[in-house]
Amino acid sequence: TSFLVFARPLTEGTIPGVLVCLEDETHRAHAEQMRRDFVANVSHELKTPLTALIGFIDTLRGPARTDPAAQERFLSIMESEAGRMNRLVSDLLSLSRVEAEERVRPTARVEMRGLVAGVVRAFETLAGDAGVTIETELPPEDIEIIGDTDQLRQVLWNLIENAVKYAGRDATVRVMLTGPGYEAKVRGHGVRLRIADTGPGIDPIHIPRLTERFYRIDTHRSREKGGTGLGLAIVKHIVNRHRGRLFVESTPGQGTEFTVVLPVG
Ligand code: ADP
Repeated sequence: TSFLVFARPLTEGTIPGVLVCLEDETHRAHAEQMRRDFVANVSHELKTPLTALIGFIDTLRGPARTDPAAQERFLSIMESEAGRMNRLVSDLLSLSRVEAEERVRPTARVEMRGLVAGVVRAFETLAGDAGVTIETELPPEDIEIIGDTDQLRQVLWNLIENAVKYAGRDATVRVMLTGPGYEAKVRGHGVRLRIADTGPGIDPIHIPRLTERFYRIDTHRSREKGGTGLGLAIVKHIVNRHRGRLFVESTPGQGTEFTVVLPVG
């Protein structure tokens, strides 16, 4: 802990007393350090694909000039590097929007059952290509909460995408939605959304840090899968804005389950 200490006379001239102010500097220093780390991370994440792009432009102008097969190969690498930058910038924009709105209560009525079904449907092709089966368990009735439709869709999207991405071939992803139920409603408990996969699981040491910006367990694997390291940070801020809670349970070798609990109103 560091303190900023300053003293000044209470009146001009002779000094009848001294006012000593102690201000805790720790929080400010920590916030400043986090900001510096964030800028360094963003710069690094953007610089890597940019360096590759500049290198390939040189190669296309030079050695690959007369080799159409090489040109095609380099162009597709450039396309994927540009795609990576694009995803990073989109996620940064989402994160800053979500952070700016975190204190503003959402006001729209959102029907969760339809929202979940829609996102799962949108994943069918991607999951099929990845060899992953998605199963859904939805309640028989509509479940309405007060929230922000686009942001809740993004929560679902990020969690299901991670499950499909990291679980690997032949895995199963289960997406489950349960309503608050009478008793839970009375006690103010909420809607429960669970995304469980039968993937490799996550070592418990990583769990407390998963929602930090740019925290990845395996950076190479995340990049290879098109990850930006911002998905769960975005999820956390959206869940906070909805006054909800996010839980992660995982057993290495068996799978991972993310649970989002959202208040009804
Ligand atoms: P990324 O863009 O790297 O996926 P996220 O913030 O979405 O970033 O996730 C952070 C890290 O958490 C990932 O890099 C991955 O290592 C790990 N992770 C997230 N979801 C899962 C999952 N369902 N199974 C295993 N690991 C996961």
